[in-house]
Amino acid sequence: MALIVQKYGGTSVANPERIRNVANRVARYKALGHQVVVVVSAMSGETNRLIGLAKEIMPDPDPRELDVMVSTGEQVTIGMTALALLELGIKAKSYTGSQVKILTDDAFTKARILDIDQHNLKKDLDAGYVCVVAGFQGVDANGNITTLGRGGSDTTGVALAAALGADECQIYTDVDGVYTTDPRVVPEARRLDKITFEEMLELASQGSKVLQIRSVEFAGKYKVKLRVLSSFEEEGDGTLITFEENEGSMENPIISGIAFNRDEAKITVAGVPDKPGIAYQILGPVADANIDVDMIIQNVGADGTTDFTFTVHKNEMNKALSILREKVQGHIQAREIHGDDKIAKVSVVGVGMRSHVGIASQMFRTLAEEGINIQMISTSEIKIAVVIEEKYMELAVRVLHKAFDLENA
Ligand code: ADP
Ligand code: ASP
Ligand code: MG
Repeated sequence: MALIVQKYGGTSVANPERIRNVANRVARYKALGHQVVVVVSAMSGETNRLIGLAKEIMPDPDPRELDVMVSTGEQVTIGMTALALLELGIKAKSYTGSQVKILTDDAFTKARILDIDQHNLKKDLDAGYVCVVAGFQGVDANGNITTLGRGGSDTTGVALAAALGADECQIYTDVDGVYTTDPRVVPEARRLDKITFEEMLELASQGSKVLQIRSVEFAGKYKVKLRVLSSFEEEGDGTLITFEENEGSMENPIISGIAFNRDEAKITVAGVPDKPGIAYQILGPVADANIDVDMIIQNVGADGTTDFTFTVHKNEMNKALSILREKVQGHIQAREIHGDDKIAKVSVVGVGMRSHVGIASQMFRTLAEEGINIQMISTSEIKIAVVIEEKYMELAVRVLHKAFDLENA
């Protein structure tokens, strides 16, 4: 007997029929004698619909109230999933985040899980129930409803698996595993049987939304056995996230995958004095406003001034621009501050990069041959990321996928 956490995403619970499919799969696992915890997302499109409704009332919605609204999507699907299980004669009980007590901090719309109380779930599992838990939501120390950021149900699933000491966490979605890149953009993309945890972490952080990055972080921290599978197919082992690299790094593919992301915007602070403390003076107030900064570039100075460029989430560009214009520009005597949200980031990822040189130049040559201009570059040991004009994103992903021969194993 094993304890298994199964997470089903929005398309997997998009209508009553699909919810019945979920219940049937759970029933099969129960019949094998396993204990099952089910985590569900809102029906596909529902979270976007709720955000849209909020914005009709307040264009930049108050985050506490937004969380009160968007968390309702998952409350509907836990009830429906529990009903579908009851209809099959299976003992089932639904739980909201606060009923479990998934305790988070109070960063509404992007809260972090601090603690999970597993006692009620354990008691019900031992009594033979399937526990159906709402993904994406938690509760802060003051009893406020919080949500975990877009795609956060993945994190609920993995965090529950960690807290319960589950034998496996299965992420059921609308593709049958993790691919070399998003198969919707590159139809030749290839499913990977396994991928290292480090590579998955990079792919998720660079925008592959198949797993939310925090779910991968949880899996790494608590060594959760994590697998991505299709909820539409009965067979198939999906993709396993592994913790060991293959013995001898020469066996690893050089590049495992390509990620992309349209969610960032670029902010340039031009003509700032080239002197100590400037980076801090620019980024300090941005950090104080809880705005995450991703890539940062400072050019070599000329004539005593320099340009400073960094990226933030598109949703936070305007907020960051007003902070800089109001609190920073006069202070540091910057000539100009402007934002550009028509950018995209494309990243190639692979642990094999560690033992191979020339990957960056191959990437840059491939983009140059298509006339795609690179605006920013950042690297890590296993990743090279570039910022380009948004309209070239899909082209860049396709030509890179081909250049690195990812369609062939
Ligand atoms: P869910 O609603 O089940 O959480 P998501 O839409 O969040 O599903 O994530 C699954 C989607 O992730 C796929 O439909 C696919 O378009 C996209 N995706 C992006 N990168 C990859 C990748 N490398 N492998 C597989 N899917 C990917
Ligand atoms: N329903 C939430 C979202 O759309 C959480 C999730 O699907 O994981 O972002
Ligand atoms: Mg998702």
